[in-house]
Amino acid sequence: MKIDAVLAAVVVNIGSLTKAELGSAIKSSRTELLNHCTDRDLVPVPPTTVLPADLTAEMVHSTIYGTKMRERTAGREIYNLIKNRTPARRCSYCGVSTANTLDHVLEKSVWPYLSVVPENLVPACSDCNSHLRGRSIGNGEGKFHLYYENLPTQPWIECQLTESAPIATTFVYKRPPSYPLALWNRLQNTVDAIGLSRLYAANAPRIVRKAARNLERLGRIEDRADHMKEMVGDYEDFDRFGYEYLTTYALSRSDWFIDAGYTLAL
Ligand SMILES: [Zn+2]
Repeated sequence: MKIDAVLAAVVVNIGSLTKAELGSAIKSSRTELLNHCTDRDLVPVPPTTVLPADLTAEMVHSTIYGTKMRERTAGREIYNLIKNRTPARRCSYCGVSTANTLDHVLEKSVWPYLSVVPENLVPACSDCNSHLRGRSIGNGEGKFHLYYENLPTQPWIECQLTESAPIATTFVYKRPPSYPLALWNRLQNTVDAIGLSRLYAANAPRIVRKAARNLERLGRIEDRADHMKEMVGDYEDFDRFGYEYLTTYALSRSDWFIDAGYTLAL
């Protein structure tokens, strides 16, 4: 999204700042952010340039982001465009809940000029947004920046199945050996903060039941095994790190589940 379009929709005079001055302050803050967010090399971004004496950070972000972007004005259209751009409109962090808000990667209370910069706005659910509050980027406690850091291409989260009644699922994280440790630490900070493994485990039983109901209709064990492979393929196309895929994959690898274990989930 073009920053000029955002600025045209949301920028107003505030305090002693004219629209042009505010627009230029936002642009220079954005440049500073982009300079610090080269791929795989996130470093701490210094807080924003000093605000004019008659302005507080709260005044800046509540006016341009709160009043002009989040509320019902021309800026809301931009807000919705950013919020709705994830697959199936799910939260970018957990991939489970609906993205109903925007997470400020760098907090608006510290970096008010970044409050309307698209590169700083990530579609999120309100739970993830609140769990990640107060976390910066580029330090030991930092969070993963979904726009500038790449998730591992190798599997990094796995569903483990308990093959007994009641069928339970546990989700564990495993760093692929080639994945850089600093990135992994930030990814861990982020998934720990939002409780991803607990969230996946809470949603997995729905997938187990769905698979069990499908298998119940198939008389032959070979057909049940084929069906599980098809389910895996469908979910893999949607999100191969999502709980639906991971759970289905674990079930498809379990001879116990396909043979008769599935009846425990009916
Ligand atoms: Zn979420």
